[in-house]
Amino acid sequence: MSLTPAELAAARVFRAAQRALLERKNASEPPGITVSVHVRNVRHDCEAKGGKSVSLELREHYAFSPELYVCRCGVVEVFNVDSSHWDCDGGVKVPARRFGFIFTEGRCGCGMTARSGDSRLVDPAVRPPAARAVVS
Ligand SMILES: [Zn+2]
Ligand SMILES: [Zn+2]
Repeated sequence: MSLTPAELAAARVFRAAQRALLERKNASEPPGITVSVHVRNVRHDCEAKGGKSVSLELREHYAFSPELYVCRCGVVEVFNVDSSHWDCDGGVKVPARRFGFIFTEGRCGCGMTARSGDSRLVDPAVRPPAARAVVS
């Protein structure tokens, strides 16, 4: 990705916010299996199926970045018309959907969850959501 300084700042803030959400999810619903974000299927010895090895599909969760405002003072925030940073020293709007954030998750019938421990920041123009992605 070749980014302007404002896009770079927006990308950092968006990724940090999405990673924080993912960390909160991992803390409140710890996964039984942690995998790489590049893994599409994982096997699990399911106790509900008598210890049989079952294959779980990891589904892509894809979040688009919101419209962000990168103020010259250094603040990056979700664009809103009431922002106090309008009276600041000027800034740049980064349009919505400029970035995509991906993690993956799968759930077995027994309730066991597999989730990616890592994540990806992508350019939606190059890497749009996968066909069956959960998009937000
Ligand atoms: Zn299971
Ligand atoms: Zn400002």
